[in-house]
Amino acid sequence: MNIVILGSPGSGKGTQAKLIAKEYNITHISTGDLFREILKKNCPLKNKIKKYVDRGLLVPNEIVVKVVKHKIQQENSKRGRMHESTAGFLLDGFPRNKFQAETFDKYLEKNNSQIDLAIFLKVNKKISQKRLQARRICPKCLKNYNLITDPPKVDELCNLCKIKLKQRIDDTSTVIAQRLKIYDQEIQPIVNYYRSKKKLVTVEANKSIEEIFQNITHLIKNFTKCQKKDTLN
Ligand code: AMP
Repeated sequence: MNIVILGSPGSGKGTQAKLIAKEYNITHISTGDLFREILKKNCPLKNKIKKYVDRGLLVPNEIVVKVVKHKIQQENSKRGRMHESTAGFLLDGFPRNKFQAETFDKYLEKNNSQIDLAIFLKVNKKISQKRLQARRICPKCLKNYNLITDPPKVDELCNLCKIKLKQRIDDTSTVIAQRLKIYDQEIQPIVNYYRSKKKLVTVEANKSIEEIFQNITHLIKNFTKCQKKDTLN
Protein backbone atom coordinates (compact mmCIF):
# COMPACT_ATOMS: atom_id res chain seq x y z
CA MET A 1 0.00 0.00 0.00
CA ASN A 2 1.41 3.38 -1.03
CA ILE A 3 0.11 6.43 0.82
CA VAL A 4 0.70 10.17 0.75
CA ILE A 5 -0.14 12.28 3.75
CA LEU A 6 -1.07 15.91 3.11
CA GLY A 7 -1.55 18.78 5.51
CA SER A 8 -0.21 22.15 6.53
CA PRO A 9 3.03 22.56 8.45
CA GLY A 10 2.01 21.78 12.04
CA SER A 11 -0.94 19.60 11.05
CA GLY A 12 0.73 16.60 12.72
CA LYS A 13 1.66 14.86 9.44
CA GLY A 14 5.02 13.66 10.71
CA THR A 15 3.61 12.23 13.94
CA GLN A 16 0.77 10.43 12.18
CA ALA A 17 3.06 9.25 9.38
CA LYS A 18 5.32 7.48 11.89
CA LEU A 19 2.33 5.78 13.55
CA ILE A 20 0.81 4.69 10.23
CA ALA A 21 4.12 3.38 8.89
CA LYS A 22 4.59 1.30 12.04
CA GLU A 23 1.00 -0.02 12.04
CA TYR A 24 1.08 -1.11 8.38
CA ASN A 25 4.78 -1.94 8.18
CA ILE A 26 5.47 0.44 5.32
CA THR A 27 8.44 2.77 4.79
CA HIS A 28 8.04 6.30 6.06
CA ILE A 29 9.68 8.80 3.71
CA SER A 30 9.69 12.40 4.90
CA THR A 31 11.21 14.83 2.39
CA GLY A 32 11.75 17.37 5.19
CA ASP A 33 13.76 14.77 7.17
CA LEU A 34 15.72 13.81 4.04
CA PHE A 35 16.65 17.45 3.48
CA ARG A 36 17.59 17.97 7.13
CA GLU A 37 19.86 14.88 6.89
CA ILE A 38 21.48 16.33 3.76
CA LEU A 39 22.00 19.66 5.55
CA LYS A 40 23.91 17.88 8.32
CA LYS A 41 26.41 16.51 5.78
CA ASN A 42 29.03 18.27 3.74
CA CYS A 43 27.88 17.43 0.24
CA PRO A 44 27.26 19.45 -2.95
CA LEU A 45 23.49 19.04 -2.60
CA LYS A 46 23.62 20.83 0.76
CA ASN A 47 24.56 24.12 -0.92
CA LYS A 48 21.79 23.71 -3.46
CA ILE A 49 18.99 23.26 -0.93
CA LYS A 50 20.05 25.23 2.17
CA LYS A 51 18.79 28.62 1.03
CA TYR A 52 15.34 27.21 0.33
CA VAL A 53 14.91 25.16 3.51
CA ASP A 54 16.21 27.93 5.80
CA ARG A 55 13.75 30.42 4.33
CA GLY A 56 10.76 28.09 4.22
CA LEU A 57 10.71 28.05 0.42
CA LEU A 58 10.10 24.99 -1.71
CA VAL A 59 13.22 23.20 -2.91
CA PRO A 60 13.13 23.04 -6.76
CA ASN A 61 10.96 20.23 -8.11
CA GLU A 62 13.71 18.45 -10.05
CA ILE A 63 15.84 18.10 -6.90
CA VAL A 64 12.91 16.92 -4.75
CA VAL A 65 11.70 14.32 -7.24
CA LYS A 66 15.25 12.99 -7.69
CA VAL A 67 15.76 12.71 -3.91
CA VAL A 68 12.44 10.89 -3.41
CA LYS A 69 13.05 8.42 -6.25
CA HIS A 70 16.55 7.74 -4.96
CA LYS A 71 15.23 7.07 -1.46
CA ILE A 72 12.56 4.67 -2.74
CA GLN A 73 15.11 2.78 -4.81
CA GLN A 74 17.44 2.62 -1.81
CA GLU A 75 14.68 1.30 0.45
CA ASN A 76 13.62 -1.25 -2.14
CA SER A 77 17.10 -2.64 -2.54
CA LYS A 78 17.51 -2.67 1.25
CA ARG A 79 14.40 -4.82 1.48
CA GLY A 80 15.54 -6.96 -1.44
CA ARG A 81 12.83 -5.72 -3.76
CA MET A 82 13.53 -5.46 -7.43
CA HIS A 83 10.73 -3.14 -8.51
CA GLU A 84 8.88 -0.15 -7.13
CA SER A 85 5.68 -2.10 -7.76
CA THR A 86 6.30 -4.29 -4.75
CA ALA A 87 7.08 -1.48 -2.35
CA GLY A 88 4.88 -0.03 0.33
CA PHE A 89 5.67 3.51 1.42
CA LEU A 90 4.20 6.53 3.10
CA LEU A 91 5.23 9.91 1.72
CA ASP A 92 5.19 12.78 4.19
CA GLY A 93 5.84 16.32 2.93
CA PHE A 94 5.64 15.17 -0.68
CA PRO A 95 4.03 16.12 -3.03
CA ARG A 96 4.06 19.82 -2.18
CA ASN A 97 2.56 20.92 -5.50
CA LYS A 98 0.57 19.45 -8.38
CA PHE A 99 3.65 19.14 -10.59
CA GLN A 100 5.34 16.86 -8.04
CA ALA A 101 2.16 14.77 -7.72
CA GLU A 102 1.85 14.31 -11.48
CA THR A 103 5.55 13.68 -12.09
CA PHE A 104 5.67 11.10 -9.34
CA ASP A 105 2.53 9.34 -10.56
CA LYS A 106 4.09 9.00 -14.01
CA TYR A 107 7.21 7.50 -12.46
CA LEU A 108 5.15 5.01 -10.43
CA GLU A 109 3.04 4.09 -13.44
CA LYS A 110 6.19 3.22 -15.39
CA ASN A 111 7.04 0.86 -12.55
CA ASN A 112 3.56 -0.71 -12.44
CA SER A 113 2.79 1.02 -9.21
CA GLN A 114 0.58 3.83 -7.93
CA ILE A 115 -0.44 5.94 -4.96
CA ASP A 116 -3.33 4.06 -3.35
CA LEU A 117 -4.49 6.65 -0.87
CA ALA A 118 -4.02 10.34 -0.05
CA ILE A 119 -4.79 11.29 3.55
CA PHE A 120 -5.51 14.98 3.98
CA LEU A 121 -5.15 16.29 7.56
CA LYS A 122 -7.34 19.34 7.94
CA VAL A 123 -6.36 21.64 10.77
CA ASN A 124 -7.21 25.10 12.03
CA LYS A 125 -4.43 27.60 11.20
CA LYS A 126 -4.14 28.91 14.77
CA ILE A 127 -3.66 25.37 16.09
CA SER A 128 -0.97 24.57 13.52
CA GLN A 129 0.90 27.80 14.36
CA LYS A 130 0.78 26.94 18.06
CA ARG A 131 2.05 23.41 17.39
CA LEU A 132 4.92 24.73 15.25
CA GLN A 133 6.01 27.19 17.90
CA ALA A 134 6.11 24.39 20.49
CA ARG A 135 8.03 22.03 18.22
CA ARG A 136 11.60 21.13 19.13
CA ILE A 137 14.13 18.89 17.42
CA CYS A 138 17.22 17.03 18.57
CA PRO A 139 20.15 18.50 16.59
CA LYS A 140 21.90 15.11 16.65
CA CYS A 141 19.33 12.37 15.91
CA LEU A 142 16.70 14.81 14.47
CA LYS A 143 13.91 13.31 16.59
CA ASN A 144 10.94 15.68 16.87
CA TYR A 145 9.22 16.70 20.11
CA ASN A 146 6.40 19.02 20.98
CA LEU A 147 6.67 20.82 24.31
CA ILE A 148 2.88 20.63 24.73
CA THR A 149 1.69 17.38 23.16
CA ASP A 150 4.83 15.23 23.11
CA PRO A 151 7.43 16.67 25.53
CA PRO A 152 10.79 15.03 26.29
CA LYS A 153 11.07 13.18 29.61
CA VAL A 154 13.59 15.62 31.11
CA ASP A 155 13.51 19.41 30.61
CA GLU A 156 14.30 20.15 26.99
CA LEU A 157 16.71 17.24 26.51
CA CYS A 158 16.43 14.57 23.80
CA ASN A 159 15.25 11.29 25.39
CA LEU A 160 17.81 9.36 23.33
CA CYS A 161 20.87 11.64 22.97
CA LYS A 162 20.38 13.61 26.22
CA ILE A 163 21.37 16.83 24.51
CA LYS A 164 19.52 20.14 24.46
CA LEU A 165 16.67 20.31 21.96
CA LYS A 166 16.52 23.18 19.48
CA GLN A 167 13.85 25.02 17.58
CA ARG A 168 14.05 24.30 13.86
CA ILE A 169 15.51 27.23 11.93
CA ASP A 170 12.32 27.28 9.82
CA ASP A 171 10.02 27.26 12.89
CA THR A 172 10.58 30.96 13.67
CA SER A 173 7.49 33.13 13.22
CA THR A 174 8.56 34.82 9.94
CA VAL A 175 9.51 31.54 8.30
CA ILE A 176 6.36 29.83 9.62
CA ALA A 177 4.30 32.58 7.96
CA GLN A 178 6.17 32.02 4.68
CA ARG A 179 5.65 28.23 4.82
CA LEU A 180 1.94 28.60 5.57
CA LYS A 181 1.57 31.07 2.70
CA ILE A 182 3.13 28.62 0.23
CA TYR A 183 1.01 25.80 1.65
CA ASP A 184 -2.18 27.85 1.09
CA GLN A 185 -1.19 28.47 -2.52
CA GLU A 186 -0.33 24.87 -3.35
CA ILE A 187 -2.63 22.59 -1.36
CA GLN A 188 -5.95 22.96 -3.18
CA PRO A 189 -4.68 21.77 -6.60
CA ILE A 190 -3.09 18.72 -4.92
CA VAL A 191 -6.28 17.92 -3.00
CA ASN A 192 -8.32 18.30 -6.21
CA TYR A 193 -5.85 16.09 -8.06
CA TYR A 194 -6.22 13.14 -5.66
CA ARG A 195 -9.95 13.74 -5.22
CA SER A 196 -10.46 13.50 -9.00
CA LYS A 197 -8.68 10.14 -8.86
CA LYS A 198 -10.97 9.05 -5.98
CA LYS A 199 -8.01 8.55 -3.69
CA LEU A 200 -8.57 11.31 -1.17
CA VAL A 201 -9.76 10.93 2.40
CA THR A 202 -10.01 13.94 4.72
CA VAL A 203 -9.30 13.68 8.42
CA GLU A 204 -10.16 16.33 10.99
CA ALA A 205 -6.80 17.07 12.68
CA ASN A 206 -7.80 19.53 15.43
CA LYS A 207 -7.83 16.55 17.82
CA SER A 208 -5.48 14.52 19.98
CA ILE A 209 -2.77 12.37 18.38
CA GLU A 210 -4.60 9.18 19.44
CA GLU A 211 -8.00 10.28 18.13
CA ILE A 212 -6.59 11.33 14.77
CA PHE A 213 -4.72 8.04 14.44
CA GLN A 214 -7.84 6.04 15.27
CA ASN A 215 -9.79 7.90 12.60
CA ILE A 216 -7.04 7.30 10.07
CA THR A 217 -6.86 3.54 10.70
CA HIS A 218 -10.64 3.36 10.45
CA LEU A 219 -10.56 5.15 7.10
CA ILE A 220 -7.75 2.94 5.79
CA LYS A 221 -9.72 -0.16 6.79
CA ASN A 222 -12.82 1.04 4.93
CA PHE A 223 -10.79 2.17 1.97
CA THR A 224 -8.97 -1.17 1.54
CA LYS A 225 -12.30 -3.03 1.98
CA CYS A 226 -13.81 -1.00 -0.88
CA GLN A 227 -10.75 -1.57 -3.04
CA LYS A 228 -10.93 -5.34 -2.47
CA LYS A 229 -14.62 -5.29 -3.39
CA ASP A 230 -13.82 -3.39 -6.59
CA THR A 231 -11.17 -5.94 -7.57
CA LEU A 232 -13.51 -8.87 -6.90
CA ASN A 233 -16.35 -7.41 -8.96
P1 AMP B 1 8.93 19.83 6.32
O1 AMP B 1 9.75 19.18 7.36
O2 AMP B 1 8.06 18.89 5.55
O3 AMP B 1 8.17 21.02 6.85
O4 AMP B 1 9.97 20.41 5.23
C1 AMP B 1 10.98 21.33 5.58
C2 AMP B 1 11.43 22.08 4.35
O5 AMP B 1 12.00 21.18 3.39
C3 AMP B 1 10.34 22.81 3.58
O6 AMP B 1 10.03 24.08 4.13
C4 AMP B 1 10.97 22.93 2.20
O7 AMP B 1 11.99 23.92 2.18
C5 AMP B 1 11.68 21.58 2.06
N1 AMP B 1 10.77 20.58 1.47
C6 AMP B 1 10.29 19.46 2.08
N2 AMP B 1 9.52 18.76 1.24
C7 AMP B 1 9.50 19.43 0.07
C8 AMP B 1 8.87 19.22 -1.19
N3 AMP B 1 8.11 18.15 -1.42
N4 AMP B 1 9.08 20.15 -2.15
C9 AMP B 1 9.86 21.21 -1.95
N5 AMP B 1 10.48 21.49 -0.79
C10 AMP B 1 10.32 20.60 0.22
